[in-house]
Amino acid sequence: MIAQLIEESRKIVIKIGSNTLAGKDGKINFNFLDEFAQQSSSLIKKGKQVILVSSGAQIAGLSTMDKWARKKDIHYRQALCAVGQVELMDAWRRAFSRFNLHIAQILLTRDDFNDSKRTLNMRNTLFTLVDEGIIPIINENDTVSVEEIKIGDNDTLAARSAILWSADLLILLSDIGGLYDKNPKDDPQAKLLEEVRDIEEVRKNIIIGESNSFGTGGIATKLDAAALVQSYGIPAILADGSKPRCIEALAAGNQKGTVFLI
Ligand code: ADP
Repeated sequence: MIAQLIEESRKIVIKIGSNTLAGKDGKINFNFLDEFAQQSSSLIKKGKQVILVSSGAQIAGLSTMDKWARKKDIHYRQALCAVGQVELMDAWRRAFSRFNLHIAQILLTRDDFNDSKRTLNMRNTLFTLVDEGIIPIINENDTVSVEEIKIGDNDTLAARSAILWSADLLILLSDIGGLYDKNPKDDPQAKLLEEVRDIEEVRKNIIIGESNSFGTGGIATKLDAAALVQSYGIPAILADGSKPRCIEALAAGNQKGTVFLI
């Protein structure tokens, strides 16, 4: 099912979570970025179009400003993301340049999606970039996003971006193999749910556990994101981005995950 969905989809939004971007040392995993850029390049050669939603600004910022690690003040957190966003995009730029691909940075916040003029501009810019073979990389604009105007998690940001761009498919890459009936980190007996159609029903019947240290939304926002795109007729896949060459493995039917069907 996953392989077929990827095969049939032309416009794909891929969201990469913080825990997927970070290595075990808590710093940006450059190998992952290189491998990911290569797989995106293959997708593009097959005629597909890709938009990335990349978390990781905070992680990248902490690598540079490690003395700010204990600062909890909101302005320091935002300053950290401002520093880290540059590092993050620099890492992505290097990774994609090896495959002769250019990237573009798009920083958005909730208000941008609630204003028809802004959404039109965003949509046109995304279409222009993608038509020119450039990979847009979207993230939340943390500098202006205080709690009240925040989207708050990149799963929802990715879902909204997928809807805005009229994507065919949303892929959420996390550090978990998909949606389980309970958190596999708490219980190794947890069962993977490979196909989900009725998200609200499933939500009532599973145990939603804790998220990771860097994760913001956890599994709940992944369900929200899947439900949001589903209501616009866009299917979603949740899969483990830490598996080797995960996009290729998913496309070849060699890796499992959860498909949220429409
Ligand atoms: P990301 O940084 O990729 O967005 P999060 O840490 O926010 O990831 O959310 C993913 C985490 O949610 C998983 O690592 C897992 O431990 C946790 N989780 C809790 N309950 C479940 C569940 N029922 N199925 C799958 N994962 C779950």
